[in-house]
Amino acid sequence: MSPEVLSQRNEALGNLDEQHVKGCIKCQLHETRTNTVFGQGNTAARLVFVGEAPGREEDLQGLAFVGRAGQLLTKMIAAMGLTRDEVFICNILKCRPPDNRDPAPDEIASCWPYLDEQLQIIQPEVIVALGRPAAQTLLRTKESIGRLRGQWHDYYISGIPMVGEATPLMATYHPAYLLRNPADKNKAWSDLQQVMQKLGMKMPQGSRRTRQG
Ligand code: SF4
Repeated sequence: MSPEVLSQRNEALGNLDEQHVKGCIKCQLHETRTNTVFGQGNTAARLVFVGEAPGREEDLQGLAFVGRAGQLLTKMIAAMGLTRDEVFICNILKCRPPDNRDPAPDEIASCWPYLDEQLQIIQPEVIVALGRPAAQTLLRTKESIGRLRGQWHDYYISGIPMVGEATPLMATYHPAYLLRNPADKNKAWSDLQQVMQKLGMKMPQGSRRTRQG
């Protein structure tokens, strides 16, 4: 990627964060947040991870996936042979729902355009949706994560199939779920291996075994 294109992306993402997200009051979550959590990582990333919403640590630090689930996500990314600096990590919601409750439909509807714009700017080759709310929102479906994970889907800008080309999307379990259900780490690793194959990445030695945890 040319330095000019990278600079344009950085500027566009910076403007979106500074001018729209940081002062956003579009839904009730602005009343209880400490910080907005825009997401962070490489703006030239080939791979973007999308989670559900900031948790307590994320709200305090203003950064995505920095709590216990974030530590597991870091291990999952490392198992793929990558670092967090090589990918982009963000959430459907930019503000923490109180007590980490599920995002409400009106909150998702209000916040969704920010994520849509982030993905339009970054133009990743592959998107990984972490957990049910992210997968259901990005794919505009009510299917369970158990049915959605492990297979390729098409993500379209603004959810409209005729707008632009589809981006391949893999749904998998959220790291917070995997902390509670470690037996499913094998399935998540299988999903991530499919992502690596799609990106033409070298498979790590011993890749048939669970590597995260
Ligand atoms: S969750 Fe999203 S829409 Fe709601 S206040 Fe925060 S940034 Fe705005």
